[in-house]
Amino acid sequence: MTDQPERLAPLPADWQRCLAVVAHPDDLEYGAAAAVAAWTDRGADVSYLLVTRGEAGIDGLAPDECGALREREQRASAAVVGVSAVEFLDHRDGVVEYGTALRRDLAAAIRRHRPELLVTLNHRETFAGTYWNTPDHRAVGLATLDAAGDAGNRWIFPELLGQGLPPWDGVRWVAVAGSPQPTHAVDVTDGFERGVLSLMEHRTYIEALTDEDPESYVRNFLEMTTGAAADRFGGRPAVTFEVFPR
Ligand SMILES: [Zn+2]
Repeated sequence: MTDQPERLAPLPADWQRCLAVVAHPDDLEYGAAAAVAAWTDRGADVSYLLVTRGEAGIDGLAPDECGALREREQRASAAVVGVSAVEFLDHRDGVVEYGTALRRDLAAAIRRHRPELLVTLNHRETFAGTYWNTPDHRAVGLATLDAAGDAGNRWIFPELLGQGLPPWDGVRWVAVAGSPQPTHAVDVTDGFERGVLSLMEHRTYIEALTDEDPESYVRNFLEMTTGAAADRFGGRPAVTFEVFPR
């Protein structure tokens, strides 16, 4: 990338509530979960919202069976990093559509949870400038960035008022994990091991994905990504985010 800052800034820590919104079970565990462990360690309140159950994620498993299994794996992986509130929307895995229906669902969740920090996964076209991103990630990331504003405006989705959801304009940052243009980072020296365990809870998914031993696959991946971030974060293993202040 051409316009990356030399050094990553520490992600702001003066907040109490975070809502993390992603498309699929495992999206948060490919990195962000180690940062979540650091946040819950200091007493922050973190909730997860999954737009799908990842039911199209395992070739050999039919969606009905797969969705229930992946929901269980997601709840277990959240518990490892101190997150007990895990909600699922019923959008269809693989064909999530960016649009007002998705924005409304996310705005409603933001009004319910009233977070200061919103986390999502990479909404940009590629990972690392090389690998084409998936349509679900792009749609959910973009809709989350947009819903931060929708949640604060009483005239957008006025039907939410009737559901007892008044505007919440308190989102101060949206932090995008896995972005090819990171600006900030979170030190995961203490959270790293729980990040490994958290991703390993997606065992059925990982076993279908690779012939490698699940633990070495997970450990190698997270060591590589947190180590690469360390070069721009004072040598400390880190999870990176592209942060949009509001
Ligand atoms: Zn995903």
